[in-house]
Order: sequence, then structure tokens, then C-alpha cells
Amino acid sequence: MCLTSPTGGRVPVQAGNASVYDNVTRQFDNAAELMGLDDSIRRILATPANEITVHFPAKMDDGRVEMFTGYRVQHNNALGPFKGGLRFHPDVHLDEVKALATWMTWKSAIAEIPFGGAKGGVQFDPSKYSGGEIERITRRFTWALGQNIGPEYDIPAPDVNTDGRIMAWILDTYLSAVSPQDRARCIHVVTGKPVALGGSLGRDKATGQGVIFCIEEWAKDRDFDLAKATYTVQGFGNVGSWAARLMDQHGSRLVAVEDVTGAISNPGGIDAEKLTKYVRENGGVQGFPDGAPIDHESFLSTEADIFIPAALENQITEKTAPMLRVKLVAEGANGPTDPHGDVLLRKSGVDVLPDIMANSGGVVVSYYEWLQNKRSEYWELEEVDRKLHEKIVSAYRRVRAAAQEHDIDWRTAAYVVALNRLQSVYRLRGVFP
Ligand code: NAD
Repeated sequence: MCLTSPTGGRVPVQAGNASVYDNVTRQFDNAAELMGLDDSIRRILATPANEITVHFPAKMDDGRVEMFTGYRVQHNNALGPFKGGLRFHPDVHLDEVKALATWMTWKSAIAEIPFGGAKGGVQFDPSKYSGGEIERITRRFTWALGQNIGPEYDIPAPDVNTDGRIMAWILDTYLSAVSPQDRARCIHVVTGKPVALGGSLGRDKATGQGVIFCIEEWAKDRDFDLAKATYTVQGFGNVGSWAARLMDQHGSRLVAVEDVTGAISNPGGIDAEKLTKYVRENGGVQGFPDGAPIDHESFLSTEADIFIPAALENQITEKTAPMLRVKLVAEGANGPTDPHGDVLLRKSGVDVLPDIMANSGGVVVSYYEWLQNKRSEYWELEEVDRKLHEKIVSAYRRVRAAAQEHDIDWRTAAYVVALNRLQSVYRLRGVFP
């Protein structure tokens, strides 16, 4: 199966084929068994609360109408409103969205923010549509979701192939359906908005920043000097490019990068800032003058200290895990390692900072944006960064403590932290009636 790259070339799709929701179920079962999660609570958390599928039309530039399918899965809201990103991608399907929504529930619980978990998306390849078409698809999708989203109920944010511009269109469409008197009270219906529209300073870089805060803690624990580190990044969009720019500030050396257009390597170091500018102008890393093109296998087997997957799910599998020659995998993406890959990484002594802890910076700053909107406040970047740092470091410490207490891997430990929090809430609330 192939995708057409933004530059027109055909590139192999590297997203794995395993059911992502099966991965979530296996991770969940592992942790639930280990911690002896209450059976009734286990049954509740094993199933998403709502799975919404919408089919809607959108007008193309040439006057034709195309039909699209979109999803919003709301996994759990015991800790607060449903919260999670929206993805535009040809591989978006219900199984994947269920998995991503479930991970959001665990993520908010670990970070100790008052949100539940949700995720959504539209199944289409935005690189094949004009800006005007993407806007109309976004607006019709928002319209189709209707009251299934809302500022105190379910709050979308950016994910793969969506950004502040898309959030602005969702906001505008949502507000158009709200009475004029209520509009000013509803701008927190989406987060990840442009700053001029009520977005938070620091939200753009937040997920990458959170990954780097976790790597810093790991480096302290391992007495590892990040100034001498080499690293590789898969996916050079929001998360990957920010993670790389922030790693560069430590003096670490980026030696290989891969995105949907191809992979490049330079043992002498790739300047993350320059590459970000290049990707913005050219649509991908392919052709970057300071890097030699390499194939997917060579990218994966590049020797480095740290690998930051920041693209799609199921990248580190039974087949690819043995290729990795790194000390640490810091998961910027959601679900980049499948359960087989996990076992192999553990066997070969590779540390893993799991997604539901390492990439929670985005939802944490989304929470700060939501709070600022509700209070009509604007926080300085330093304040956002300081608060994010505190949150991420305490989440890291909670997961580390659980890993040590139960003598388990960090992914299972992260689940134990999340499930303990949810279990304590359900024990207090009980189940209606
Ligand atoms: P993005 O659209 O900005 O970037 C995605 C990147 O992945 C692009 O560089 C793209 O070229 C690359 N990519 C896509 N398919 C690929 C493939 N088959 N092989 C290699 N590279 C490929 O998306 P993003 O927001 O940076 O999200 C990346 C990952 O991080 C996703 O798993 C997402 O769910 C996760 N995440 C994002 C946020 C956020 O705040 N944006 C928060 C938490 C987790």
C-alpha cells in the first residue's frame, strides 16, 4: 500500500496493520491483572462510553459534492469533560479512534488534570484537497458532530494533520450555532487555537516540550549527559519538530529523521531549526540539503542514544524492534510500540518512556488554555512552561514510583497510576442508580 507524498513521490506506508485497539486492550489487561483492578470498574473502563460515526457531504472546488466519514469516540468522563484531538488521515477508522480515545483517559488521569478521554477524526488525505475544501470538510464535520462536542462536555484539539487553523474553523462553526449571548462563554470548546483567538502561549510546543522534560528526568536518573547525546526522530510535524528543536538546545545531535516523504541521515548532525523551516516550505524532509537520503530500514537501525517516534502507531513491532540500536525510546506519538515490540525492547534492555506519560504535555497545556478561557486570563509563556514542567515531572515521578514498587516496566506502571486514580473516583461515586 502506498501514499502519495506531498512532493508527488510514492512512499511506502509504514503504519503497522495490527489492531491498535487490541494493543490498548492488552496493555489494559496486563495492568488490571497486576494491580487487581476491581472487576466492575474494569468492565466500565474496558468499553468506550460513546462511539459516534457521522457521514457528511462537502462541496469541492469544482462544484462536485463528496461524502466523508468522521468519528468521535468518547471513552470516559469520570474525571472531567471528554478531551482529545482530531486527526485528518486516510487511515482514520473506528478501531484506531477508540484506541486513541482510551489512551486519552489514561493520559489525563496520570497527569492529574480534570479531563476524561476522547478522540476523533475524518478519514481523508488532506494533502489531496485544497485549503478551501479542507475548510468546508472541517466545518461540515463540526456541524455533523453538533452538540456531541461542547466547552464543558467534549473538547477537541489538534492531532495529526490538524492545527490551530483547523481549530479556528471548528470554533467559528460551533459558535455560529450558539446563541449570540452565549458565544463569548464558549471559546473553550476547542484548545490548540491560535493565540489571537484565545489559544495559550506554549500550546504549540507543549507536546514536544513534555517529551523533553521526561527525557531530562530520565537523563538525571541514568546520570546521562544530554549534551553528548545523539538521537533520531520519526515524524517531523508538530511533536517531532518541537522535540528536536528542544533537544538541540541541550546540545544533543540529531543524526537521522524520517517522515512521510522519506528519511535522511547525517552523522555530523542535522540542524533542527533549519529542517523545520525546510519542512514548512517543502512539505517534508525529503531533499533537505544537509542530509543524505536513507531507506526505512537504515533509518530504524541508525545507532543513537535516543529514538523519538513522533508519527503514527505500530512502528516498533516484532519485526522492527530488533533493528533499533538505542538506549531510550521516548514516545512522542500515541501507540508507536505494539505489545510484541514492547517485549523485545524490554528483553534488549531499551528504556521506554511510554506515550501516556511522555506525550501528555499537549493535553496539560490544553487544560491551561481551557482554564485561561474560562477565567478570561492570558498567562505568560514562562508561567505556562513552569506549570507544565511541574506537572510532567510529578507524573514522571508517580510512574517511576509505581515501576519500582511493583518491579514492572514503565508502560504497565503508567497504566497502574491511571487505573488507581480512576478506581478511587469510581469507588467514591459508585455507579448510578
Ligand atoms: P503532525 O501532522 O504535525 O505530524 C505528523 C508527522 O508524521 C509528519 O511529519 C508526517 O510526515 C509524519 N508521518 C506520517 N505518516 C508517516 C509514516 N508512515 N512514516 C513516517 N512518518 C510519517 O502530527 P503531530 O501532531 O505531530 O502528531 C504526531 C504524533 O503525536 C501522533 O501520534 C499524535 O497522536 C501524537 N500526539 C500529538 C499531540 C499534539 O499535541 N499534536 C499530542 C499528543 C500526541
